[in-house]
This record gives sequence, C-alpha cells and structure tokens, in this order.
Amino acid sequence: MDKVYVLDSSAFIFGFSTSPPLKSYTTQEVVKEICKNEFTKTKIEIYVAQGSIEVISPPEDFLKKVLTVTQNTSDLKYLSKTDLSVIALALFLKKTLNQKVVLVSDDYAIQNAASILKIEFKSLKAKGIEKQIIWEIYCPACKRVFLNASILKCPFCGHKLKRKPKSKLAITKK
Ligand SMILES: [Zn+2]
Repeated sequence: MDKVYVLDSSAFIFGFSTSPPLKSYTTQEVVKEICKNEFTKTKIEIYVAQGSIEVISPPEDFLKKVLTVTQNTSDLKYLSKTDLSVIALALFLKKTLNQKVVLVSDDYAIQNAASILKIEFKSLKAKGIEKQIIWEIYCPACKRVFLNASILKCPFCGHKLKRKPKSKLAITKK
C-alpha cells in the first residue's frame, strides 16, 4: 500500500469506491455534509465500519496554511469550510505519512488549490482543471446559474456558490 486517498463530498456523491487494502481519509465536515443524504450516509457508515475510511480533523496550522495560500489566489471565496478541511487534511497527511496522498475531488477550486500546494489530485467526473477556463458561478444546491461573479451566496437558498468551467456545463446539460 503506497497510496492513500483524501475524499471530499463530491467523491462520495460520484461514487468513489474504497475498500481494503485501499485506505482513504476524510474530515468530519465532509461526513456532516454527506450525512444529509440517506444513500451517501449509509455508504460512509459502511466504509467507516470496514476501516477503509478514517475520519481525521486536520491540525489548525495546516488549515491556516491553506487559508493563506487560497487567499492569494482567487480560490478562497469559492471554498467552503468543508473544502478547506479536506485540502488541509491532504496537506497534513502528505507531511506526516510516508505515502503518496491523492485528493479526490470534482471541485475546481479544490483542484486548483491542490495543484498550488503540490498535492496530487484525481477527478471522478470532470476532466480536471484545464489551462484556460471561463468560469460559471452556480449553486450546488438549487442548481441556479449566476452571471455575476461577485455573488458568493445563493440569493435563493443561501448555499455557498461554486464555479465550474462554462464549456463543461454545456456538455453535461441535456
Ligand atoms: Zn441555491
């Protein structure tokens, strides 16, 4: 076993499967988020019971480092507390484990932060970040799309807005 995975919420939603001897990690924030859904809740309970997922809270100084780095890029405003926790966890594990750490996420802001912090990442659904991207701002909860990039929270349901490449949306929309 030379590789471990750090999973964000999208990894569970898109069905990343993990079973021994594969070892995965996630944070309490992710667990809280995905336990709102019965299906993913059952899934994570099984993984935790199997011992294939370990829930760890990243130390404060790693969170601070991620905050600082993402503040310098424009990523911080697109990262939720949950997002920050998984990036910090990946960074922490990379420093402490003598193994390759791969962050599994379909969130572009997370992927971008990971590449700046030299954390390897893997995407399940999308192709991963590309060089030139026109971002589209959308609400992950009610799926509304916004043109004004300065809005941070969904005016309809209050969720923190996410962004994704405009061209990608055209492909996935049917
Ligand atoms: Zn919304």
